[in-house]
Amino acid sequence: MSSCLFCRIASHEIPAIIVAETDDFVAFRDIDPKAPTHILAIPRAHVESLNQATDLAMVGGLVGFVRDVAKQEGVDSSGWRLVVNTNADAGQTVFHVHAHLLGGRSLNWPPG
Ligand code: AMP
Ligand code: ZN
Repeated sequence: MSSCLFCRIASHEIPAIIVAETDDFVAFRDIDPKAPTHILAIPRAHVESLNQATDLAMVGGLVGFVRDVAKQEGVDSSGWRLVVNTNADAGQTVFHVHAHLLGGRSLNWPPG
């Protein structure tokens, strides 16, 4: 059994509100949402952060998957943001690559 929280969500060992799944990616609602739409999209493959990602097809696929989930959530026209926190200064707390999909309200720029 993996000790990685997001691997365990991807394999349905730990419950989450999953909104989309493919063979390669899973999207679920963030447990502590920062916007009306706050979804995390992850590859099923365990990679600690973008710094370790060597499969750039996976990285591109993740972006396309998030785009599709944004459309499914109905925020494609109003606008949405994709955030990938990487390491300490960015505030990464879970070391399995994940993209935050944020939308449903006007988002500040620049982020904090
Ligand atoms: P980051 O700070 O970029 O590593 O983001 C990790 C995110 O995972 C945070 O927004 C947390 O709220 C979220 N999170 C932590 N545990 C869970 C969980 N069990 N289910 C859903 N989201 C979670
Ligand atoms: Zn993992």
